[in-house]
Amino acid sequence: MSYVSDPIRCVARKEHRCTWCGEAILSGEQYFTWRSVDDGRWCQSKMHSECYSVMGEELYPDEGYIPYSNDRPEG
Ligand SMILES: [Zn+2]
Repeated sequence: MSYVSDPIRCVARKEHRCTWCGEAILSGEQYFTWRSVDDGRWCQSKMHSECYSVMGEELYPDEGYIPYSNDRPEG
């Protein structure tokens, strides 16, 4: 069983790391965050808004992707 919460759009108050591209989400940037359960483990994903939209268009989390190893799209 897996579960994914609804994504929330936030403004970073400190630096985070994008789960999609592995680059920094800088303080003041907008990003999306959500939680998911995979094999009984909670994980929290955070992504640049452009990375989030690419992920939504190209492949859904159910199909899997390798975190931190994807290309950041042009802003
Ligand atoms: Zn990113």
